[in-house]
Amino acid sequence: MEQTKYLIVGAGVSGLSFANFLPSHSDWQCVELLDEPGGYCRTIIQDGFVWDFSGHFFHFRHPDIEQFLRDRMPKEEVFRVDKSSSILFKGERVDFPFQKNIHQLPKEDFIECLHDLYFRQGDPETAQSFEAMLYAKLGRGITEKFLKPYNEKLYACDLSELDKDAMGRFFPHADIADIIRNMRHPDNQSYNAHFTYPKGGAIEYIKALLHDLDDDRIHYQERLESVDVVNKVAHTNRRTIQYEHLISSAPFPKMMDMCGVDYDRSQYSWNKVLVYNLGFDRKGQEQDHWVYIPERDKVFYRVGFYDNIFNTPRMSLYVEIGLQADASVDIDGTLPEVLTDLAKAGITDTHKLVSWHSVVLDPAYVHVSESGQADFRARHAELSDQGVHCVGRYGAWKYCSIEDNIIEARDLARALGQST
Ligand SMILES: Cc1cc2nc3c(=O)[nH]c(=O)nc-3n(C[C@H](O)[C@H](O)[C@H](O)COP(=O)(O)OP(=O)(O)OC[C@H]3O[C@@H](n4cnc5c(N)ncnc54)[C@H](O)[C@@H]3O)c2cc1C
Repeated sequence: MEQTKYLIVGAGVSGLSFANFLPSHSDWQCVELLDEPGGYCRTIIQDGFVWDFSGHFFHFRHPDIEQFLRDRMPKEEVFRVDKSSSILFKGERVDFPFQKNIHQLPKEDFIECLHDLYFRQGDPETAQSFEAMLYAKLGRGITEKFLKPYNEKLYACDLSELDKDAMGRFFPHADIADIIRNMRHPDNQSYNAHFTYPKGGAIEYIKALLHDLDDDRIHYQERLESVDVVNKVAHTNRRTIQYEHLISSAPFPKMMDMCGVDYDRSQYSWNKVLVYNLGFDRKGQEQDHWVYIPERDKVFYRVGFYDNIFNTPRMSLYVEIGLQADASVDIDGTLPEVLTDLAKAGITDTHKLVSWHSVVLDPAYVHVSESGQADFRARHAELSDQGVHCVGRYGAWKYCSIEDNIIEARDLARALGQST
């Protein structure tokens, strides 16, 4: 039987980061079920367009992490962009975030949002769900005109099933003073006021993570199939491997299945996101990098524009469609609806589609609920005690960015590297 000290499952951001931050000369192997690295952080280059699996724009909060990646990338290859994003509301653009820009709404909508904000009821701190938090914090008008329909489209679930902190730091909080102050002194900074994006797409950050790694230790088209956690033996579609530590970025429920854990499946819920990358024959709007689409008569919840990052002459965009995990997907059949809705949204007029690509991200957004998180923490700790460390957006079953993945994997590599 083959042996390794660290068996890494998945050559996405998390798995590759873990390998990077192990002490040098560590004994590790990585198995990746696909024939290439990157996980969700992959890029398609097609007919002159550069597209990610879904717009992966990067907001680094830790300069050392960004520097670590940049040191391993060709120079001058990364755009730094001041984000411009807006919301399509009744055919007009309103600055994002909605709650801080209600003064830009038509007068009746503005009055309703302001009135309901002032007379809101309930305590957001003790709210029992994400939906209840929205009503208690921002009032009915703001909730029902944007936050509820938008997030229902994204998460593809009833928002009363999500925890009040389901979006963590990604939710743009604003209190009544912020909202009123913003009417005179606009300050729409959010967690991602600036972002960076490599000329070659998100895969460039993966190439940076591969830069110092020995390729021979990454085994593509090798799928972890089951794990004997007691004897620390992993079975893949190719071989049996004895490990000391198993580091998994595979989705947590799948990992529990592979480890033979008996768990309550109803605690684990998620959506999937259908992404269309679309290339057109000529330029469109030049203002925004993202547009949020709360209106239910349009199938997508968000549109992002690569050409406004790259300053290229042809409109290159992605649209994201939130779906329930068990929904059937008809990629060819949905495309005409997407194109019709882009025209309805005023994003295209006589534009001709010249290239396209589509991908389904499943899982995409974990549905964070209080009981689900409690169950996750207990199972995660049990597996950790047995030497199975689950990391990453899906391994650790959370909403996070690639920078979070890198930090989490680095911290685990340092902890395991020190203690063994
Ligand atoms: C719609 C959407 C938009 C996003 N936008 C951004 C953004 O703008 N900025 C940002 O920072 N982050 C963004 N993210 C988050 C980002 O994609 C993730 O945080 C990151 O890619 C997760 O990396 P990971 O390595 O943890 O997981 P993954 O990318 O899922 O990698 C896991 C790897 O494990 C492999 N694997 C799974 N099971 C097995 C098995 N049994 N055997 C072997 N291999 C296996 C998979 O093939 C995959 O390669 C977005 C996510 C989504 C869904």
